[in-house]
Amino acid sequence: MSCVVCPKCGLALERAPRTWKCPRGHSFDVAREGYVNLLLVQHKSSRDPGDNPEMVRSRRAFLDDGHYRPLRDAAVARLAPLGARSLLDAGCGEGYYTDAFTSVAAEVYGLDISRPAIQLAARRTRGVTWLVGSSAVLPFADASLDLVCNLFCQPQVAQMHRVLAPGGHVLLVTPAPSHLLSLREALFEQVREHEPDKFLAGFDPLFELRERDTVRFPLHLERTALQQLLQMTPYAWKARPDRRTALEQAQALDTEAVFSLLLFRRK
Ligand SMILES: [Zn+2]
Repeated sequence: MSCVVCPKCGLALERAPRTWKCPRGHSFDVAREGYVNLLLVQHKSSRDPGDNPEMVRSRRAFLDDGHYRPLRDAAVARLAPLGARSLLDAGCGEGYYTDAFTSVAAEVYGLDISRPAIQLAARRTRGVTWLVGSSAVLPFADASLDLVCNLFCQPQVAQMHRVLAPGGHVLLVTPAPSHLLSLREALFEQVREHEPDKFLAGFDPLFELRERDTVRFPLHLERTALQQLLQMTPYAWKARPDRRTALEQAQALDTEAVFSLLLFRRK
């Protein structure tokens, strides 16, 4: 039986090739690309929530060039020993990491609120169930998943706890304080440090922290990669326009990617 539930009534959705239906008759069409849109109007903050097509395309191009490959490899290496059967990538974007997670679990779900992101993800990877939906109201049955991955999104702790089976895990990836420091120094007069620990308190007492470590690697960014990174990085838009423009015109920039990886176990 599917662990995906109807976002309207919470009953299990029966999956057929063209349409998914719940026992109460709510139905959701499978899109041409193979994904299903389970986002209800009342869960949307705007008409087209989440990353827009331009941001999604920049992220796809940047990630496909392998700049964050070491992070993807590190995440897979942490997850493989867990032996999870089912995995949800919550806030999966265009699916770069989700695609790799198919090697660590047999049943993989990618969920994002951005339809353009899920469309792009579904066009590339067939072995994943792609869903447009909200992480704040996860369309999964209680205790139905073994692992939830949360990369660079606001973690919805109570929801993750609800959908995870006891003993299930959450992988949380956040930028570390010195992530892209030289890039941020070029953009801002005063650089505000990322706070990787700001989410920790929210996991207590529903989860226990099992592992934490840092993944760091140098980034040499030529102009195109730099422009893509600025395009996909929301805070870059808060920079002064002249600083942003100067950076977009730079030949190259050397910086360092630094991520914090936290693995939690559901109590
Ligand atoms: Zn229903």
